[in-house]
Amino acid sequence: MATTHKARKLPRDPGPAAWNSILADAPPRAQLNADITCDWLVIGGGFAGLSAARRLAQLRGGDKIVVVDATRIGHGPAGRNSGFMIDLPHELSSDHYTSSLDRDLWQIKLNRQAIDFAKEVAAEFALPEEAVDANGRINGAADDNGLKHNRDYARHLANLGEPFEELDGQQMKAITGSDFYATGLYMPGTVLLQPAQYIRGLADGLSGRVTIFENTPALEMTRQGSDWQVKTPQGTITTPKIILAVNGHAESFGFFQNRLMHVFTYASMTKAMTVDQVKRLGGRSRWGITPSDPMGSTVRRISGEGGDRIVVRNRWSFDPSMEVSEARIARYGRDQDKGFQRRFPMLNDLEMEYRWSGRLCLSYNSAPAFGEVDDGIIAACCQNGLGTAKGTLAGIAAAEMATKANSPLAEELLSAEAPQKLPPKLLSWIGANATIKWREFKGRAEL
Ligand SMILES: Cc1cc2nc3c(=O)[nH]c(=O)nc-3n(C[C@H](O)[C@H](O)[C@H](O)COP(=O)(O)OP(=O)(O)OC[C@H]3O[C@@H](n4cnc5c(N)ncnc54)[C@H](O)[C@@H]3O)c2cc1C
Repeated sequence: MATTHKARKLPRDPGPAAWNSILADAPPRAQLNADITCDWLVIGGGFAGLSAARRLAQLRGGDKIVVVDATRIGHGPAGRNSGFMIDLPHELSSDHYTSSLDRDLWQIKLNRQAIDFAKEVAAEFALPEEAVDANGRINGAADDNGLKHNRDYARHLANLGEPFEELDGQQMKAITGSDFYATGLYMPGTVLLQPAQYIRGLADGLSGRVTIFENTPALEMTRQGSDWQVKTPQGTITTPKIILAVNGHAESFGFFQNRLMHVFTYASMTKAMTVDQVKRLGGRSRWGITPSDPMGSTVRRISGEGGDRIVVRNRWSFDPSMEVSEARIARYGRDQDKGFQRRFPMLNDLEMEYRWSGRLCLSYNSAPAFGEVDDGIIAACCQNGLGTAKGTLAGIAAAEMATKANSPLAEELLSAEAPQKLPPKLLSWIGANATIKWREFKGRAEL
């Protein structure tokens, strides 16, 4: 009997992808409604999928390259994240973001390749400055505990030979307009993305070289001789090679079972500020703050095509069902409101316009789900919460591996451990949510 990998679940994205909603409407791309063939099929149009498609187009210019996404480009997690493309160690599972010295040096080297790729995309496709803004980021600290987190992190950076600058409360206020932050740690290497603008710009830039179908979920992949036939709701695609770039949904196809943790995080974005509100706030027009305690709030001020706004992200939940309710988004939205009010009391007349949540995929040992999972199917999944950089890397590496190009990057990713098996389902659900709650409680000063 022919091997079939069937998608038992399709992505559902809760709430609007605000970063996408604030941009001018993009004309919809076609939905596949025919039986076609191609040389390379990429399933998933996020960071991993579109990076893979660009790399394939560079390596195999004349070949027919197709990307399918279950939703629209910029509507999935790629258009609903906070846009920190981070070069430095940022282990969300650690209390201090760090891992061992060797592993961190390895990750920095790789992350910088992803950042270079994004900068090349911005230059090649003439993206607006805010799409890929090499502005750095600040770990903001609200109190002494936050300061201690930052000092520990700074010591680690010094050992890694990485530059940073310690900021006092006044400097933090000059940047953010807020008195909330007692101190901060500035790190210059992070790039701040307008994630939807970047991902849409990347997709648009590939037109003519790559065919992208939207609202075209891959429902199943069936082996037919040396090809795979991929069924979609209104058509089929026959292809010898597939790059599976669906992050946690790799498990929906039966790959990496009981090895992936499906986690959601939550965010709100304000309305565009008026001239008066901008004046009352003060500070710079663009900045990005990650919390000194990983469980705190990330906060960004953005400006550009979508107006001058503030984005607050906090709260986490572990949801093996890969779905969360609108009620939860509304409930956790109150925590984003609190975080906003504590930081910006001068903007008490500025309301949130959008609230949403989005999926992340983590593994127990922070390992990627990368490599050939069946003959001709290469997975570029499980970005451990940092998909802007790690997804980009996985996509490039998958394209290089699929085309058998010389790929030190693919070798690096293949040399990483595989995602470890999780404890039994109920235990992991109780354990992970209890750990999240406990860590959120400890980090509450940064919420
Ligand atoms: C609120 C929030 C804040 C975040 N902040 C950051 C941050 O600041 N920095 C950072 O690096 N990361 C951040 N992340 C995580 C980041 O968004 C993800 O790690 C990243 O999007 C993963 O990239 P990817 O391409 O692997 O997967 P995705 O972006 O999830 O793309 C996978 C695509 O596959 C499609 N798909 C799934 N199943 C199918 C199917 N059967 N057929 C066809 N298509 C399918 C989906 O529709 C989706 O578009 C955040 C996430 C959230 C939700």
